[in-house]
Amino acid sequence: MHKKRNTTLILAVCATVLVFGFIGWFLVAIFEGEKPKIQLGPIPVFLTKTAEVPLIVTDAERGIRTIKVTLKQGTRHITLLEKRFSFEGLLNAEGVHRFETVLTINPSEFNQGRADIEVYAWDYSRSSGGDGNLTIAEHKMTVDTIPPALRLVSPLNYVNKGGTGLIVYQTTSDAVKSGLYVGKRFSPGYPSAKSPEQGMHVCYFGIPVDTTKGVKLFLWAEDKAGNISKANLNRSIHIRNKKFRTRKINISDRFLDEVLPYFAPELKDPTLENVVKFLEINQRVRKENNEVFFGLRTDTSPKRLWEGPWLRLKNSATMARFGDRRLYYYKGKIIDEQIHMGVDLASLASSKVGAVNNGRVIFADRLGIYGLTVVIDHGQGLASTYSHLSNINVKRGQDVAKGDVIASTGLTGLAGGDHLHFGMMVSGLFVNPIEWWDNHWIKDNVIRKLGTGYK
Ligand SMILES: [Zn+2]
Repeated sequence: MHKKRNTTLILAVCATVLVFGFIGWFLVAIFEGEKPKIQLGPIPVFLTKTAEVPLIVTDAERGIRTIKVTLKQGTRHITLLEKRFSFEGLLNAEGVHRFETVLTINPSEFNQGRADIEVYAWDYSRSSGGDGNLTIAEHKMTVDTIPPALRLVSPLNYVNKGGTGLIVYQTTSDAVKSGLYVGKRFSPGYPSAKSPEQGMHVCYFGIPVDTTKGVKLFLWAEDKAGNISKANLNRSIHIRNKKFRTRKINISDRFLDEVLPYFAPELKDPTLENVVKFLEINQRVRKENNEVFFGLRTDTSPKRLWEGPWLRLKNSATMARFGDRRLYYYKGKIIDEQIHMGVDLASLASSKVGAVNNGRVIFADRLGIYGLTVVIDHGQGLASTYSHLSNINVKRGQDVAKGDVIASTGLTGLAGGDHLHFGMMVSGLFVNPIEWWDNHWIKDNVIRKLGTGYK
């Protein structure tokens, strides 16, 4: 009998434990604290055009009750999405546990400026006084669909093919980058030192020697949201055609014997014939060297560093001009063709080379066909280059004043005799230095424009 009573007691206890256990489990289940998960995005930081924004809400336990998406602009709340889900099956087992959608956000429906997206998701838990667990996801955004305004200030702009041009233009203050395109070539503008608050910019640009008649010239500006403005300048910038010379250059075996040893580090195959080595230097090495020059265009002061007339190597004769089309002959046959992108000046051997204007040294090293080379930045994308030097007196990063001796002439690199190869660059493009040695040209094309009150 005792045994049976004990068994009944044990069964009763077990049943009670089970019932309470079940009630406990049920309460834990309906009051569960697991919050819904929200996956929003990617969303642009700046809304410039209609954006499709993916939204995924998941809730593993009791499932999703409500989702609300709003766009907040100041005190204004605009509902983008509001969805209620019904309770289905035991403990919402058959309800919605995962919801996926794509929000279409059209900036034309909102005001310009700050616009924050807020996503609210509640689940079917009885927690929080029966409201369920709540998850909030926020994303800060700015509606900006207005591109920066652009206005050309300098009205008449004549530029020579191969030469330099300067325009003065104005942008609205939200423009973060602006400048001029000549075809695909971009020259950035720099805020005018006198009145940057008015959005005034100066922009030096070059016209490549091979520019064709229909080249597109346009002002370009971008704001931080990525909105872009363009203004056609084909009627405001007039390109004057310039004829360049053609020159024959005879490559002798003696010349090759003299210059080739210097290029041993640049040559991939030392067993090649001399004339083949020469072609590799004149083509591949030249191209690589020009890329180094081009790469220096961003290392420039946003402020103008130069002042007054530009110097020219003292007591020197011009041996080759900018834009000369050079035809290379070997044993009576044409083997190559290149355009000379600087001016060759010859004086006495090892003549002292002065900085042509104030600036900062941005390159002082050996550079392939150009030999020992110095590049000086004069600000706002303007630079001068000095090549075939026999020695260099300055270091990269050093400030130099007009006339400071920076080097001596020589014949390093691809040079037949002691001379200075001098180049002028505008935003990475070699231009004709002749203009910069001409005070009348500077007065008419630079000072007059800057003199309108902008530097
Ligand atoms: Zn030269």
